[in-house]
Amino acid sequence: MNTSQTILRPAPVFDAQRIRADFPILKLEINGKPLVYLDNAASSQMPQQVIDRLVRYQTTQHANVNRAVHTLSEIATSEFEAARHKLQHFINAREEREVIFTSGTTDSINLVMHGYGRKFIGAGDEIILTTLEHHSNIVPWQMLAEEKGAKLRVVPVNDAGELLIDEYEKLFNERTRFVGVMHVSNALGTINPIRQMIAFAHARGVPVLIDGAQAAPHMQVDVQDLDCDFYAFSGHKLCGPTGIGILYGKAEQLERMQPFKGGGDMILSVTFEKTIYNTIPYKFEAGTPPIAAAIGLGAAVDYLSGIGMDAIAAHEHALLDYATVQMKQMPGVRIIGTARHKSAVLSFTVDGVHPHDVGTLLNQEGIAVRTGHHCAQPVMQRFRVPATSRASFAFYNTMAEVDALIAGIRTVQKVFA
Ligand code: PLP
Repeated sequence: MNTSQTILRPAPVFDAQRIRADFPILKLEINGKPLVYLDNAASSQMPQQVIDRLVRYQTTQHANVNRAVHTLSEIATSEFEAARHKLQHFINAREEREVIFTSGTTDSINLVMHGYGRKFIGAGDEIILTTLEHHSNIVPWQMLAEEKGAKLRVVPVNDAGELLIDEYEKLFNERTRFVGVMHVSNALGTINPIRQMIAFAHARGVPVLIDGAQAAPHMQVDVQDLDCDFYAFSGHKLCGPTGIGILYGKAEQLERMQPFKGGGDMILSVTFEKTIYNTIPYKFEAGTPPIAAAIGLGAAVDYLSGIGMDAIAAHEHALLDYATVQMKQMPGVRIIGTARHKSAVLSFTVDGVHPHDVGTLLNQEGIAVRTGHHCAQPVMQRFRVPATSRASFAFYNTMAEVDALIAGIRTVQKVFA
């Protein structure tokens, strides 16, 4: 069945063409075909506004922060702190000092593992994670569990890729000390009911870290409304630079934690006998921070807020629905991850074709998708697949690009027929 002709494209909710003009990279051709960039869950592209901001910083504002009274250092410091302020508002944190600049989600989670976990989790204690987690929210906790003699408990999922919340609740006992859960699954797109999960954990006095790497770029995040203790995400998935991300932490949690990295800027005073640590957030920002990247991330959240996170979510949902309806009708194509609440991630397999071959053939058509285990091997094990192909949408994608993807998969099927 030629589904792309039988299914009507929904009316656009959003002027993606106008938005696309902001992204120089989207004008590229790959293998002689217009680039169809559907690997946004791995890393999204950067608009000219963010590129310009980085250039302006590097050409007129750069110096090290916090360390000098000269004019450039003062400008760099105030621009760096202005970026922190933008991030605070982007996630509705109560206070600026609750936003710590890190190198990304992985670094943020490791910070919590070292700063909170190593101080407050001990032998026999239990940490709850979920089957869906990215390796970056598994391995640090496994390292901690090995070091301390603690235990990981894992929330299972159903065949749609939804967490079994009854099972989650049953995992709690008097030894439960911590919960780590992703907001949105990078492998399946499932949006987890984190508000409910956080409330349940808090009723038992257990803090919760949310891995928001796949949520912050796609929906409005309000950390006060969620009431999470920690929320982590990366700049490069959010139209910002690589090498930057944030950890949000409730001030009272951050105050209790030990520093993760030692060095300059994270201290108030140092003698060989004793070091007095700086206040938050600086206690967790040892050494020269990624100043340009933080300022670039500030420009990225300005850009996204200018479009509006609700408008972004609506457009991406329309893309996801349109792609899902078409893929469901394609014989030999199986969607992995069919949760009722999903974000713009579409993982799939094509019968008789290894995902890497799917990715390679799509690339010949100029279509960029990710293939592999998506750093979520437990998810692959749960669905008994070695890997999937994954199309992940951003607000600058179009319905025509969905059509190109569907046509590309048909080409793959023909080649392997
Ligand atoms: N968590 C999730 C859900 C992700 O999708 C990713 C990246 O794909 C990460 C964590 C790790 O992000 P980073 O590599 O930017 O630290």
